[in-house]
Amino acid sequence: MTTPVPTLALNDGHTIPQLGFGVFKVEPEETTRIVSDALQVGYRHIDTAAIYGNEEGVGAALAESGIPRSDLFVTTKLWNDQQGTESAFDAFDESLERLGLDYVDLYLIHWPTPAKDRYVESWKALEKIRESGRARSIGVSNFLAPHLGRLLGETDIVPAVNQIELHPAHQQPEVTEFTRAHGIQVQAWGPLGQGKYPLFDEPVVTVAAETHGKTPAQVVIRWHLQAGNIVFPKSNRRDRMVENLDVFDFELSRTDMSTISALERAGRVSAHPNDVN
Ligand code: NAD
Repeated sequence: MTTPVPTLALNDGHTIPQLGFGVFKVEPEETTRIVSDALQVGYRHIDTAAIYGNEEGVGAALAESGIPRSDLFVTTKLWNDQQGTESAFDAFDESLERLGLDYVDLYLIHWPTPAKDRYVESWKALEKIRESGRARSIGVSNFLAPHLGRLLGETDIVPAVNQIELHPAHQQPEVTEFTRAHGIQVQAWGPLGQGKYPLFDEPVVTVAAETHGKTPAQVVIRWHLQAGNIVFPKSNRRDRMVENLDVFDFELSRTDMSTISALERAGRVSAHPNDVN
């Protein structure tokens, strides 16, 4: 099945499907089934990480799917305790092996871990990995403007993406503006508030859902897409995978967009990037 997921241009000449499927907290033993379901219903962009412990399951699902590699977009991430130079090279090799791939489409530094002060060194390792062709694009995750500013000042390659916690109640305007101003795409993790923030009960979301004949989750995903964010909501349930992908036959009005954006209340559901070390 093909889906009309648009692609966005990255600053290195590659493109990325704007909507994908994330596998945070997908149990390793369930991963192959869940990612196979996601591929069957039409997802082609999978977001995993070494720390999720499920790269092998993702790789098995990709291999079993028979989908041409060139039709897939696979992201994984360098975990905090492997930041450095040789440790980053090793971590990358291990991820590729677990995924059973020759290359990933996108490799990210998972957190800046500022107390370790190794993200600039790690980024230089990622630059070498990109040069080798085994990561088509490289980027960062959970970088605030000061972390990103330092990277831009001290290294050569501008990250292709910055993957940050972002949903209507926590839009991080400072970091998104800084990110976009440097030609870096914003990826929104926890796009549905991870189920921890009651976005789906907000009247502006439920009213928009009723107006458009869609579900609250579809309205929130659509809000992200129209805001220009790259998203990869996660669900173990096949019906919700289908639901989350079925967001290309309606358009939120300018008023819908602004009333949903007015839900901003610095509602971070996860850790502050300066505190993850
Ligand atoms: P999410 O916002 O996608 O929320 C997932 C939760 O929403 C699940 O509990 C699921 O049951 C529920 N849900 C999904 N679809 C639904 C629907 N249609 N209706 C009702 N409920 C629904 O949170 P997430 O999984 O944390 O974020 C998405 C992806 O972002 C992750 O899987 C991972 O790939 C990535 N991520 C990255 C980082 C990072 O530090 N870079 C951190 C967290 C997540």
